[in-house]
Amino acid sequence: MNLKKLLLQMERTQWKKRNIPPLKGPILTREVVQSMPLPKNGFITRTSGSTGVPVEVRRTILSKLWYDATTLREVIWHKRKLTESFAVIRPNVTHEVFEPSWGPAFALIGQTGPVYAHPVEGDLNTWLQKVQPGYLYTLPSILETIDLSKLEKLKGIKTTGETVRKKYPSLVDSYSSEEFGTIAIQCPDNPDVYHVMENIIVEILDEKDKPTTQGRVIITDLSSEYLYRYDIGDYAELGECHCGRGLQTIKRILGRKRNMVTLPDGSRHWPRIGSRSFREIAKVRRFQGVQVSATTVELRLIVDEVLTKDQEQKIRNLVQKSLGYPFDIQLRYVDEFPPGKFEEFVNKYDAERHVCKK
Ligand SMILES: [Zn+2]
Repeated sequence: MNLKKLLLQMERTQWKKRNIPPLKGPILTREVVQSMPLPKNGFITRTSGSTGVPVEVRRTILSKLWYDATTLREVIWHKRKLTESFAVIRPNVTHEVFEPSWGPAFALIGQTGPVYAHPVEGDLNTWLQKVQPGYLYTLPSILETIDLSKLEKLKGIKTTGETVRKKYPSLVDSYSSEEFGTIAIQCPDNPDVYHVMENIIVEILDEKDKPTTQGRVIITDLSSEYLYRYDIGDYAELGECHCGRGLQTIKRILGRKRNMVTLPDGSRHWPRIGSRSFREIAKVRRFQGVQVSATTVELRLIVDEVLTKDQEQKIRNLVQKSLGYPFDIQLRYVDEFPPGKFEEFVNKYDAERHVCKK
């Protein structure tokens, strides 16, 4: 039996026969986890984190092994052609890089094509058109700035790290974090759901820590000595799949609480702020909405050309419609966004204390 058949067999049979241990005890926050002693054989890596605050990540040999295994599974599930090239545009890339292969983990399944890597800043379209990759691996917000029609050899797109707002037929998303590595991968037979990896147990809990179908994501990593009932800060919805894999299933990753807009009546939702249509109005390269008061949203824009008054008004109207309330939309032009994980919408308004958070 080869590796692919073994994987197929195991993921359809193992999980159902397994007893999930009852999870008890307090929900851990990032602060608590970071104050714990380092596990045996553990090592620390530091990343910039999504808010620009450094995150300390404790890894072990076992967590790295799982990371490699899930990277291979993603390739096997989505039938990637090993001989193709991969273009990688990710926040952890600091300069242009060429590697002759996809990485050591792939030695198990065969010879691969090369990897071209580029930082998230710069003229990405020109670079990609020169590289003409077989696959593209990037953040969903970066992908929306790419002219895919010019990438003639592109066979597939891989994303992770942010909520996917715009779906493409060739896009495969996975749910991952600095602390856990790969948490869940999009089902190869059903693009609407993600399957959770076997070392991870996902609980979906409400604000009172009771199980629910849509709520806070609490994660236990069975390959870690301390990532037990950890509140990762995301919200998601439980799902079901018809594919026959017996793995846990999540339907949607809704985002983080701080990515929700608060309407003046106190209701909240995760907004789409009109990303699909911005470029039909003006040459907007990237954008970010920030709620700064009960009725004000600052819209930060990176543009290729100065906008006319008419274009500005159309964008304001579009954002108001998308948010579901006629907010005062204040446009602000910027050159770059801070590096790291990008958030399309951030809520800095503290509705209880009526103040704008730093
Ligand atoms: Zn499935």
